[in-house]
Amino acid sequence: MANFNTHLSVAALGGGLVALSGHALGVMDLDAAFTAWLLTTLGGLLPDIDSKSSKVVTWLFTALALITVLLLFEAVRTWPLWQQAMILSAAFVSVAYGAKQVFSRFTAHRGIFHSLLAGALFALLQVLGAYYILALEAVAAWWQGAAVFIGFTIHLLLDEIYSVDLTNIRIKRSFGTALKLWDYRRPLNSIFLLLIVAALAWHAPSPQGFWGQLQSVWQLVQS
Ligand SMILES: [Zn+2]
Repeated sequence: MANFNTHLSVAALGGGLVALSGHALGVMDLDAAFTAWLLTTLGGLLPDIDSKSSKVVTWLFTALALITVLLLFEAVRTWPLWQQAMILSAAFVSVAYGAKQVFSRFTAHRGIFHSLLAGALFALLQVLGAYYILALEAVAAWWQGAAVFIGFTIHLLLDEIYSVDLTNIRIKRSFGTALKLWDYRRPLNSIFLLLIVAALAWHAPSPQGFWGQLQSVWQLVQS
């Protein structure tokens, strides 16, 4: 399997291609192209959040813990200082370490998070966040989601490529465990994830403008 640095460099390269072509084809301004580059790179790291040794999962839960502390701070502002300190540090530790432990226990490496369905989940989360929280226009939000999805797919492809041993043309047992539509071995997990993805898609802004741009990009590439 490809390691962290390989994933990081290939995803960053893919992100560069996405940003350059998005800008050249006139669907992204400079800011949007830069964001697309970052998001593709991030997408290329995301599938390995199911790996116990992954740096990404540590970052993710540290970030979540910081957000929790910030949100909680508003609520406990008027409390005595020592109580604030106690509750905030307890919150930080339980998210950064506790929630991470629980998460790692329930996710098998190369399970559900190494699937296109999980890619769709993160892409839609980006679309919704960009649209509702950052108040971007629907088209721009969908391009951001697309960047995450492209990075995610690059990661899955890379894992598959690495499971073919090119030196003596032999296929390792891990072949077929990375690039998949969903987790075939755990249908219940997959159905659950599918329901979440459907719910997110239901709340997403209309992709019509994005499809239109995608089609014109496709026509440009073909001609
Ligand atoms: Zn992986």
